[in-house]
Amino acid sequence: MYSTAFLDLPALASADGTVQLPGSKSISNRVLLLAALSEGTTEVHDLLASDDTRVMLDALREIGCGVDESAAAQGTVRITGLGAAAARSPARLFLGNAGTAMRPLTAALALRGGEFELSGIARMHERPIGDLVDALLQLGCHITYLGNPGFPPLRIAHGNGVPPLALDAPVRVRGDVSSQFLTALLMALPLVAHEKDVVIEVVGELISRPYIHITLQLLERFGIRVQHDAWQRFTIPAGSRYLSPGAIHVEADASSASYFIALGAIATAASAEKPLRILGVGLESIQGDIRFVEAARAMGAEVTGGPNWLQIHRGAWPLKAIDLDCNHIPDAAMTLAVMALYAQGTTTLRNIASWRVKETDRIAAMAQGCRQLGATVEEGPDFLRVTPPSSASDWRAASVHTYDDHRIAMCFSLAAFNPAGLPVRIEDPKCVAKTFPGYFEALFSVARTPVERIPVICIDGPTASGKGTVAASVAQRLGYRFLDSGAMYRITALAALRAGLAIDAAHQDRIAALARGLPVRFEAGRIWLGGDDVTDAIRTEEAGMNASRVSALPPVREALVALQHSFRRLPGLVADGRDMGTVIFPGAALKVYLTATAACRAERRHKQLISKGISANIDDLRADLEARDIRDSTRPVAPLKPAQDALVLDNSLLTVEEAVEQVLVWWQQKQPFAASAPG
Ligand code: C5P
Repeated sequence: MYSTAFLDLPALASADGTVQLPGSKSISNRVLLLAALSEGTTEVHDLLASDDTRVMLDALREIGCGVDESAAAQGTVRITGLGAAAARSPARLFLGNAGTAMRPLTAALALRGGEFELSGIARMHERPIGDLVDALLQLGCHITYLGNPGFPPLRIAHGNGVPPLALDAPVRVRGDVSSQFLTALLMALPLVAHEKDVVIEVVGELISRPYIHITLQLLERFGIRVQHDAWQRFTIPAGSRYLSPGAIHVEADASSASYFIALGAIATAASAEKPLRILGVGLESIQGDIRFVEAARAMGAEVTGGPNWLQIHRGAWPLKAIDLDCNHIPDAAMTLAVMALYAQGTTTLRNIASWRVKETDRIAAMAQGCRQLGATVEEGPDFLRVTPPSSASDWRAASVHTYDDHRIAMCFSLAAFNPAGLPVRIEDPKCVAKTFPGYFEALFSVARTPVERIPVICIDGPTASGKGTVAASVAQRLGYRFLDSGAMYRITALAALRAGLAIDAAHQDRIAALARGLPVRFEAGRIWLGGDDVTDAIRTEEAGMNASRVSALPPVREALVALQHSFRRLPGLVADGRDMGTVIFPGAALKVYLTATAACRAERRHKQLISKGISANIDDLRADLEARDIRDSTRPVAPLKPAQDALVLDNSLLTVEEAVEQVLVWWQQKQPFAASAPG
C-alpha cells in the first residue's frame, strides 16, 4: 500500500490483463455472521482481510463457533456454525470500530440468549445503536447500556435463556438513521421464527435500500426467504432455518469494479483480443452498484461477464456523453464523472445530492479535480455537468486533493490516461485503504506505458557517500521502486566465488554468463540468491572489494544491464550506484551525484561497522575506500564520475534527512503540477 504524502502517476497509455478484486467489507461480515448461525461448516472464499472482519472472526470464536483460518492467506476461512447449540457465555466481545459486527451481533446474541458484553474503540461508543436496542427491548430482550444511553458498550443479560418474546405484533424499527439496524434484525430474527411468521415494520423512509437488497440475497443463500412489501414491511416465514450453503464466495465491491470497468472502456484496444478482465464480481452480482455496467455501456464500453467475472474492452471512442439519473448507483456514479473527461460533449449526472454528505462533499471534490485537469464543470445542489478539455493541449497536470475519500483517489487515477501525456498527482493515496488497500498495485498490474515515461531518479556517488540510504529513503517518500545496483555486483561476485571462479579477466565471460542468469530475488528487505538468503553475506567489506573487482570487467557490466533496466516499473524508480546517470539510465529526469569527503565517509563507515559489532580501524578504512574510489573512477568502462547533467550534493555536513529533502526539492522543481487549489 502507498502510504506516501502523494503518489505521482506517470502518463499511462493502455491497459490489459486480469485483476482480482478484494471481497467486499459489508458482504464479508454478513456472510461470517450467517455462517456462524447455521448448522454445519461453511467455507468462505475471498473473505476481505480487514480490521472489521478480524474483530468479527475473533468474536465468533469467543462465542463458541469453529473458526479455521489455516487457509486465510488464500482468502478462505472455514466457519462451523452454532446451529441449535447455545452461544458460549458469559463472553466479552471487543468489536473495534466495526459497525457491521456490533449491530448484527447485538441482535443475534440478544435473541440467542446468554450473558454478553459488547464494546469497541472510543469512536464506536459514539456511533448510535439505540434504535436497534429499542426494537429488541420491545420484543422483551434484556439489554442495558454500560456507558451513554443509546450507544455501546452494552450488556445482554439473559441469565436464564431467552425471555418470552413478544412476536405477535410487528417489530418496529427506524429505517432513516442506518440501514444496518434493519439488516441486523433481518439476520437475527430467523432464530425465533419458529411457529409464527415474524414481521418487521420500518418506521420512516428506508435509506440505503441496495444494502438491504444485499442482506436479503445473502439470507436466501443461507436458506431464509424474506418477503417484503415495498421495502416497508418484511416477513420472515415461520419455520425458517439457517442452512449452510457449504461454500460461498464473497463478492467484490461492485463500486470498486467500476474503476476497472472504466479503465477497460478508456484504455484497452478496441477489440476483444486484449481485454481487461475483472475477477471477484460478475453481471449477476447481488449489489445495486453493478448497474454501473449499464451506464458504462451507454458511454461506449463493451462489457461481457459471467457469475464472478467481467470482461471489458473499448467500444465507442471517444466515449459518448450521457445524461443520467444516478440515484441507483450513488457510489459508482462518481466514476462516470471521470469517464466524462474522455467523452465527446457534455455529460450530466443527476440526482446525486447524497454525494454532498459522504466522506467529503463529493460533488465539490469531483468538480474541483475535473477543473484542475482542464475540464469545464458546472455543479448544482444535486447535479454535476462535465465538459472535457476541448483538445489534448487543454489538459493540465493536476495535483488532486483527495479529502480522505477513497473514491476520489481511485477516480482521478484514471486521469493518467489523458491524451496530453501528463502525469497526475494523487495526494494522500493511502485513503484507498478504506475499501481497497491494494488499489494502486492492482492498477499498475494492468496499466501499460512506454518505459521512457516511467520516471527515474539516479543517485550516484563514491562508496560510503550515503547514497544507498538517501536513495532508499527518497524511494520510500515517493512510493517508487528502488534499485541498489551495487548489490548486483556484490551478488555477482559472490556467485562467481561460490562457483569457484576467480574474479579476473580470464574468467570474465563465464562470470558474465553467470550474471546474465542470476537467480536473484528481492523480498521484504531480504536478498535471495537461489535458495540462499545472501543479505548479510554481500554486505561485508570483503564482498565490497570483490564487487569492485567484478564490476571492472566489461562483459559483466554488459550482462547486468537488462537486469537493472527491469527495475524501471510503475510508478517510478530511484536507482543508486556509480553509473546510473551516465550509462544505465542516461535519460533520467533527475541525476544526483552524492559525495562527501574521504574523512567523513571513513568515519561513517567506521560507525556503521562498530554498530554491527565489527572492529575496524578508521585509517585503514579510509585507505580502502580511497583505493576503491581510484579503481572505480579510473576503470575504462563506466568509470565513476558525475553525469554531465547531474546535480552535485556534498553531504559531508548534512544529515540523511537533509540530503533526502534536498533531492526531493530538486525533484519537485522538475514536476509540472501547479499547486493544488486550497481545500
Ligand atoms: O555501492 P556498493 O558499495 O554496494 O557497490 C559495490 C561495488 O560495485 C562498488 O565499489 C563498485 O565498484 C561497483 N558498482 C559499480 N557500478 C554501480 C554500482 C556498484 O561499478 N552502478
